[in-house]
Amino acid sequence: AKDAGKNTYQFYSEQMNIHSLQQLALESSLRSSIERDELRLFYQPIVDAKQGRVVAMEALLRWQHPDMGLIGPMQFIPIAEDSGLIVPIGEWVLQTACAQGRQWHDQGMDVALTVNLSPRQLMDPDIVETVARALKETGFSSESLTLEITEDLMMSNPEETVETIEELRQLGIKFALDDFGTGYSSLSYLKRFPIDTLKIDRSFLQGVPNDIDDSAITAAIVAMGKSLRLNVIAEGVETTEQCDFLLKQGCRHMQGYAFAKPMPADEVSPFLDGAKDS
Ligand code: C2E
Ligand code: CA
Ligand code: CA
Ligand code: CA
Repeated sequence: AKDAGKNTYQFYSEQMNIHSLQQLALESSLRSSIERDELRLFYQPIVDAKQGRVVAMEALLRWQHPDMGLIGPMQFIPIAEDSGLIVPIGEWVLQTACAQGRQWHDQGMDVALTVNLSPRQLMDPDIVETVARALKETGFSSESLTLEITEDLMMSNPEETVETIEELRQLGIKFALDDFGTGYSSLSYLKRFPIDTLKIDRSFLQGVPNDIDDSAITAAIVAMGKSLRLNVIAEGVETTEQCDFLLKQGCRHMQGYAFAKPMPADEVSPFLDGAKDS
């Protein structure tokens, strides 16, 4: 039995080595992904379901890997975070999204953009400069940019984080709290953090409207957001039943497959036609 245990251990440790080798290989090809022009941004509409119009587009990162095809961010953002590569990658995301936003603006489509910011990026000492440079170089309006951050970030370094957010807000940028309800922060952070928008995590939406607990939580977050005068967006809306439930609660801003999946920039314009004449 002892030997078997040993073998099992060896087996798992070999597996782990293979796994970390793959990670290492992925990290080194990720390192050159920017210069090889392999990163892509997809865009997913955030809609006002009551008025039936797009209020913003969220930029979502993809990696067009030469052998592995199109890779989603869950598979490489953690590697980018651990290795610090998220800083140059995040800068590429900001530059590319703002350049795209400026292009849509020049084509008569005034669309707001939201960009995801990882904890490591917001803690980068040059972040304010990086964001300011992206806006300046592209000519995209800061008023049309929202940065999405998560609760965990607020936990790790609240004072410095608030300071950085305030500096970015002075540029005219807005902030959204992403995946709300899944992190470890206490509700008191909501009061302390200068944010404009709450995004209800899609895990709560999954049970709406049939699961009474998920529905109660969703309704409570909407009510709380409203009384704190925050804009509330429900993520992961996939069905008309979910949409109806949210509208009944007074939440009209939604995002999810019920409206559109993330898509390449060149497929976006039909969704922005409404923005043209507004
Ligand atoms: P997120 O910011 O919460 O983005 C929403 C995710 O949910 C996206 O996955 C989107 O494709 C997916 N989604 C949208 N609607 C639905 C729906 O109705 N049903 C379901 N099942 N899924 C839906 P994606 O694009 O794979 O992104 C995953 C995560 O990767 C993002 O979660 C975000 O945390 C991170 N991420 C994406 N782009 C960036 C980036 O540029 N920078 C950083 N730091 N993180 C990023
Ligand atoms: Ca997001
Ligand atoms: Ca989210
Ligand atoms: Ca999420």
